[in-house]
Amino acid sequence: MIYFSTRNASPPASLKTALLDGLAPDGGLYLPEQLMSLPDGWQGAPSLAGLGAHVLAPFVADTVPNAEALVRDALNFETPLVRLDDDLFVLELFHGPTLSFKDVGARTLARFAHALLEPGERLTILVATSGDTGSAVADGFSGLPGVRVVLLFPEGRVSEVQERQLAIERPGVTPVRVRGTFDDCQRLVKTAFEDDRFRAHGRLSSANSINIGRLLPQSLYYLDAVRQLGDTPRFVVPSGNLGNLTAGVMAHRAGMPAAGFVAAHNANRGFADFLAGDDLRPADTVQTLSNAMDVGRPSNAERLTALLPPERLRALVRGTVTDDAATRASIRETYDRYGYLACPHTAVGLDAVRRLRDEGASGPMVVLSTAHPAKFPDVVAEATGATPPEPEALARLRGLPDVAVTVEPTLDALHDAAFA
Ligand SMILES: *Cc1c(COP(=O)(O)O)cnc(C)c1O
Repeated sequence: MIYFSTRNASPPASLKTALLDGLAPDGGLYLPEQLMSLPDGWQGAPSLAGLGAHVLAPFVADTVPNAEALVRDALNFETPLVRLDDDLFVLELFHGPTLSFKDVGARTLARFAHALLEPGERLTILVATSGDTGSAVADGFSGLPGVRVVLLFPEGRVSEVQERQLAIERPGVTPVRVRGTFDDCQRLVKTAFEDDRFRAHGRLSSANSINIGRLLPQSLYYLDAVRQLGDTPRFVVPSGNLGNLTAGVMAHRAGMPAAGFVAAHNANRGFADFLAGDDLRPADTVQTLSNAMDVGRPSNAERLTALLPPERLRALVRGTVTDDAATRASIRETYDRYGYLACPHTAVGLDAVRRLRDEGASGPMVVLSTAHPAKFPDVVAEATGATPPEPEALARLRGLPDVAVTVEPTLDALHDAAFA
């Protein structure tokens, strides 16, 4: 299978190039020449891992040695469909080790990338994070021989729970606390890629959210939802950089039944406005309660428009916008009505359902629940009066030493702290 750039100005690439480079040389995003095909009887696969073995492993088997075992190991947790009412379901994607759906993509990408290294080849993953990506990437790649992760996060600008997940000791991972903003962290990563000093230790890669290696496995949980439901739902996807939605549209294009999709956005509304007929305009990022969806220029919009021309995309995907007040109300109403605690991102999706129902929409709807509510205990407790019980995966981290090195936001400081 070869991978081509959405901008069509780069040579076709191998899976290894697509996974390790992330971005194509022409600035476009990689897509496979053909989409995954759904083998007959996929609905009979017993779990997410089973779907991975039946659908994803054959798709990469020509390049990834031992693909089935890697996929089964990466996707070794459940994605249960929880029923809230007759036609409303939540697909819980947060049962992986770092409690967000980012585990699905990061764990699979890590295993594939490692399997594609030549003997003796070394890989450094350099990633900037303000939220769930960093801990999922660190956890996913940790301990793989020949692989190191350098994880940059902004001092004082991540939540207490996030900091606990980022700053702990993991084999092969160097957490770096940067005295600056998330933008400083991103700038450092970008400039490090252009600086030879950082390549002296092996191949440099970023594992960021535009990586096709993260999207391919994410298509699987959509199939898992249809399998568990035994019906054709409309999918409601809390969206930021649109990787999650793209994975769903890819699954649909490959033959998965879906009654449509909803791109549920917070106040960062550019893509929702595009779906309603506007041009796609890059905008400054607005900070919200659902901070993992605070993206002003969603990169994967380019993939979605490469998969479907705008008129077909607009027919398949509806956009909604939910502000912070409505997000809080959604957390509260979901708890009052169903006794269910939702994280702020999931609550944006649940608010989209409320709106669609107010407009008369019917039929089964599946809201993708992207993070565990215990990652956002303050917002959830403030809205409901109930504190989400802390899962074992978080409780375990309490009291572990903080091993992050703190640096000024300069390339020299980053190099000395993590690469010297
Ligand atoms: C990353 C993230 C999102 C947004 O997903 P995209 O693929 O960027 O659209 C939503 N919710 C949570 C909890 C996330 O971590």
